[in-house]
Amino acid sequence: MREVRVRIAPSPTGYLHVGTARTALFNWLFARKHGGKFLLRIEDTDRERSKPEFEQDILEGLQWLGLTWDEPIVYQSQRLLLYQREAGRLVERGKAYPCFCPPEELEARRQAMLAKGVAPKYDRKCRYLSPEERERLMREGRPYVLRFAMPLEGEIVFHDIIRGEIRFANRELDDFVIVKSDGFPTYNFACVVDDHDMGITHVIRGEDHISNTPRQLHLYAALGYEPPQFAHLPLLLGTDRSKLSKRHGAVSLNEYRKMGILPEAMVNFLALLGWYPSDQQEIKTREQLIAEFDLADVKPSGAIFDLEKLLWMNGHYIRQKPVEELARLLVPYFAEQGWLHDPPTEDEWRYLLQVTPLVQERMRTLQEAVGLADFFYREPDSYDEKAKERLRKEGITDLLMELSNRLEALTDFSVEQVERTVRQLAAEKGLKAAEVIHPTRAAITGRMEGPSLFHLMAVLGKERCVGRLRKAALWVSNERERGLTISPQHS
Ligand code: GLU
Repeated sequence: MREVRVRIAPSPTGYLHVGTARTALFNWLFARKHGGKFLLRIEDTDRERSKPEFEQDILEGLQWLGLTWDEPIVYQSQRLLLYQREAGRLVERGKAYPCFCPPEELEARRQAMLAKGVAPKYDRKCRYLSPEERERLMREGRPYVLRFAMPLEGEIVFHDIIRGEIRFANRELDDFVIVKSDGFPTYNFACVVDDHDMGITHVIRGEDHISNTPRQLHLYAALGYEPPQFAHLPLLLGTDRSKLSKRHGAVSLNEYRKMGILPEAMVNFLALLGWYPSDQQEIKTREQLIAEFDLADVKPSGAIFDLEKLLWMNGHYIRQKPVEELARLLVPYFAEQGWLHDPPTEDEWRYLLQVTPLVQERMRTLQEAVGLADFFYREPDSYDEKAKERLRKEGITDLLMELSNRLEALTDFSVEQVERTVRQLAAEKGLKAAEVIHPTRAAITGRMEGPSLFHLMAVLGKERCVGRLRKAALWVSNERERGLTISPQHS
């Protein structure tokens, strides 16, 4: 069997789309599984819309996912001579011809066909010009495009690895343009010339390209190339089953990267967009994905991009991270808040290593850690509604003051000592532990949920805890003066 060679062929006319990332991943997995090559081709023949920053984003996104390519990148803009040579061969063989129809005229004819209710197609006017006529127009220097001379009858049949047999009647296909008037090739033409030249064995791409495949197969035949095998992947859909678009949320990979999705989670998630592993296990390492990936298990119906599932999966990978590694990933997010430097000082790093395990359990993205960790870095300037309610209960001022005094006297502000102090105070006052724990949490963090109280207090340290308890005690007594304290403490 020939060595497997596959490629991803993005156009640098936009940021790396999650759909393109999924296609790249499927190609990469297929190459790795079969010990083949994964190649990258930049389809930059649209001179107006191609931008270096888009190319940069695409390369960075693929690298971030770990989808490394095995040979130097192929740039279509650097291969114009190759396309011209191959187009010349088609013209010589009578498989392509120059078309001089001016764009305005084509548009008018298109409109007329639409008005008559027929599907607009090029009417092949220039296909039937006499050699003398063609010669004359050339001499006049009239601009022209090259069109493919589509067979007028018959049909084209191909086997798609995912969808099985697909047929197109040739009369449905028109004499599409292969070289534009500026000498640049069109997508279909350059794609075929390059896939052949690069020795591509399998073209794995989005379903939106199915209608290009019959045109491309005609080009393979006309150029005398052996065609590759084709696999068209199902489109990505939103949870409402309509085509994935901005309406559903972020569509560029970079946005997920910025919100703190881990690349391993993204890879795992993207792999399941259309591929149904036979063991039905969803969490898979990169090695497992490579070993198990099989185009035979890709289903042609649409693949749903479910953000909730991505967040769940990301949370799973976050919880698996060693603390140091996760802390390192949090640095830019926390630095952005002004909580530490990037890179952090020694003290900041030590503190971060203590904070990280306390938020690790609950965060689903790196960005979410900011909301979960804020009270470690700044004193809450307000209490949320639930916390207020808890603080306004009777007897809280005295309780918080008493606790702050006892904590202040501790020489060892460890988890154990803090816990012992809190429980002892509760016992002495004839309260349940929770009746001290809840208002203490409200006072120190400004809200009612979060990591283990004793742990977070030990991390915050004595000074901050004592200060926050006293500040809350003062707040409660002010509330009382305003007549805002409510129900008795025993609830
Ligand atoms: N530039 C095309 C795209 O981004 C490539 C399609 C193909 O794989 O043939 O959709």
